[in-house]
Amino acid sequence: MRKDASIERPMNEPVRDLRELSCADDYDPNSMPVAKAREVIARFLSPVTATERVGVRAALGRVLAEDVVSPLDVPAHDNSAMDGYAARHADLRADGEVTLKVAGSSFAGAPFQGTMKPGECVRIMTGGVVPPGADTIVMQEHVKADKDRVTIGKGHRKGQNLRKAGEDLATGQIALKRGIALRPADIGLISSLGVGEVTVYRKLRVAFFSTGDELVSIGAQPKEGQIFDSNRYTIHGMLTRLDCEVLDMGVVRDDPALLEKAFSEAASAADVVITSGGVSVGEADFVKVLLDKLGEVVFWKIAMKPGRPLAYGKIGSAHFFGLPGNPVSVMVTFYQFVRDALLQLSGRDPVPALPTFKVPCTSTLKKAPGRTEFQRGILSQDPAGTWTVRVTGEQGSGILRSMSEANCFIILPTDQGNVAPGALVDVQVLEGVI
Ligand code: AMP
Ligand code: MG
Repeated sequence: MRKDASIERPMNEPVRDLRELSCADDYDPNSMPVAKAREVIARFLSPVTATERVGVRAALGRVLAEDVVSPLDVPAHDNSAMDGYAARHADLRADGEVTLKVAGSSFAGAPFQGTMKPGECVRIMTGGVVPPGADTIVMQEHVKADKDRVTIGKGHRKGQNLRKAGEDLATGQIALKRGIALRPADIGLISSLGVGEVTVYRKLRVAFFSTGDELVSIGAQPKEGQIFDSNRYTIHGMLTRLDCEVLDMGVVRDDPALLEKAFSEAASAADVVITSGGVSVGEADFVKVLLDKLGEVVFWKIAMKPGRPLAYGKIGSAHFFGLPGNPVSVMVTFYQFVRDALLQLSGRDPVPALPTFKVPCTSTLKKAPGRTEFQRGILSQDPAGTWTVRVTGEQGSGILRSMSEANCFIILPTDQGNVAPGALVDVQVLEGVI
């Protein structure tokens, strides 16, 4: 298998022989706990290291490859947080009023140019530079103004309403850390430093295809027994949301020669290859033989529902995820295994977990102990403001509508049995809650 020179590895090469796994005492490919599968996958991932410089606007969603260090103090000058008067605290009286002469003004962008002598103050607006000598801002509502004089009462604290230079960020301080995906606030922060470009990791390239003789793509006429491919479209959507560069390789028939060609092409073109279908019992055998030839892939039966079969490994330099064929299983296994792996491969550090918390469940949930279940839920707020979750209707792994209606997974742990209404359950938030 040819090595793709564009796929880089960090110095401390994390890839080890997947086959070593079979020697571990607690390794049972036919009953893999969800957490164990995640742990194994994480051990073999080698994040992208190539970087590129992008303009600040284009950096939205990209992963920072270097810390952004502040080249200046933010704010650059001591400035006023209020409209009012800049004064010397020593001129104010603790026991009564004092009248000061207004020596001039300091507006945002137009600082006071003179010197503020003792007994004087300066009219100042929000954002205006605090003149040398002034250490306290008195709000305009707290003074009596009369022509060029203002009278200020007691009770003002030294330093009040004054934003110190460097209070947000000092020169040389890390403004943003390597490994984060940039959000609008970060883009604003970078701009506030006068920085126009940042170094980000190149996008992860992900190739994917669907396998199955029964599948046709949109636009074709399904013959008897054929169905429209949906997995490729959900996978495309999920990858796009993760800011990956996608390479859609279409539908591949269950034919060893065609599959071999597709796997090889995908692996040399991308960092990651994702397929759906062809890994379930009965279908997996010839795929197994094929992948044994092309790379190093393990086939697992995960102790989860839905989404039992999962193939994972390397084909050449590419990471490979063989997802089950059922449309719901595809999405569940993607969110539970592939999402975190792709974020790690993209350079995210730390990888943010999907938000998970406990809420009362208003439905009765059927559940047999023995597997972790990912039921599809609808998280909503009742009129009193309390969040609860209910299950979407039928939970079959082929019913994609259950995913479409859902905005969360209800995660039921392995040992859990049926759940009565009102019980607290773990929910993992997907898109669409807000
Ligand atoms: P498989 O894992 O290939 O045995 O497929 C399991 C089930 O998922 C079968 O009913 C397939 O028809 C269905 N399926 C497989 N791939 C797709 C796909 N790309 N889009 C929609 N359904 C699929
Ligand atoms: Mg199939």
